[in-house]
Amino acid sequence: MKHLVLVLLSVAWTAQVQAQDEWREKLDPKPTEVWKPVPVVSASPSFSLPPSDAIVLFDGKDLSQWVSARGGEAKWKVAEGAMTVQRNTGGIKTKREFGDVQLHIEWRTPSEATGEGQNRGNSGVYLQERYEVQVLDSYQNETYANGQAGALYKQHIPMVNASRKPGEWQSYDIVFTAPRFSEKGTLMVPAYVTVFHNGVLIHNHVPVMGPSVYQGLPVAEAHGKAAILLQDHGDAVSYRNIWVREL
Ligand code: MG
Repeated sequence: MKHLVLVLLSVAWTAQVQAQDEWREKLDPKPTEVWKPVPVVSASPSFSLPPSDAIVLFDGKDLSQWVSARGGEAKWKVAEGAMTVQRNTGGIKTKREFGDVQLHIEWRTPSEATGEGQNRGNSGVYLQERYEVQVLDSYQNETYANGQAGALYKQHIPMVNASRKPGEWQSYDIVFTAPRFSEKGTLMVPAYVTVFHNGVLIHNHVPVMGPSVYQGLPVAEAHGKAAILLQDHGDAVSYRNIWVREL
């Protein structure tokens, strides 16, 4: 009896699918074609060079787009197409402030791997001056997983460790959706982050609880657009080819 019911159901289902296919074939395809808005051209000369609608934040020549996070001029060293953390001069941040962005940035930890754990090639890419995507030499260097390279510091462990050897250039491609706050400053929608490390997906649209903090738990705070900040953690980490597209 049970078998018969299953056969009948299967026959009925097949007939329904056939009827639907015949009905679909008679439909005009035009009403489901959406022609507007036409995406603006964003010509991309290569997979890593800035596309035509990007804002270039560092092209290897100067720090004209940056200031010191402590105020005044950015004091990092520019040489051979890269900029490098000058120990104890503080982080640097963009003059411009951003909301939702796509960010491409390349970084390199010192080829001579000294120090251990968090003290080996530590820097960081802070979105809106608050949310750190960790930069660290995580090639055969043990530390807490939510603090290794690519971690959304102390909030999300990267899905894999895509790290290259110290001294090799690496890349982050980040999609950041800024948090939304009510007029009274209540968090309505958290920030979301997607990150590719050397082209490998390590965070897929993960929510951000609040600013990255070393101690304690993050507490959301209302803010508007803010700069992209690079951390001085005392290690000579270099950066190059930094560009952003506002979303
Ligand atoms: Mg860091």
